[in-house]
Amino acid sequence: MSRLKINPGEYICSKCKGKRKIPIEEDHTRLIGIIGTKVTCPTCHGTGKLDWIEKIVGKKQPRNISLKLLMQDMAKEAAQRLVEDIDKEFLDSILKEI
Ligand SMILES: [Zn+2]
Repeated sequence: MSRLKINPGEYICSKCKGKRKIPIEEDHTRLIGIIGTKVTCPTCHGTGKLDWIEKIVGKKQPRNISLKLLMQDMAKEAAQRLVEDIDKEFLDSILKEI
């Protein structure tokens, strides 16, 4: 991932530490049942940083992850994991045959 560019007057987001994504909140995890899923940081909205005004007052609509966005993120993650799992099994089966 490319390094976050912090301009003068901007600060790294304290919630996600500039990683742009945070582990999904526990109640959401329980709700949907995928542990370790990461979602777009609700504090910086996935930008990884805040400017000095946002640092004080927060970005607009803080902590309000839209369900649609949440589902998109989770679907992406789930699909990625599925592909990784399948690849691993596939590789294992090939290696066993050799
Ligand atoms: Zn953040």
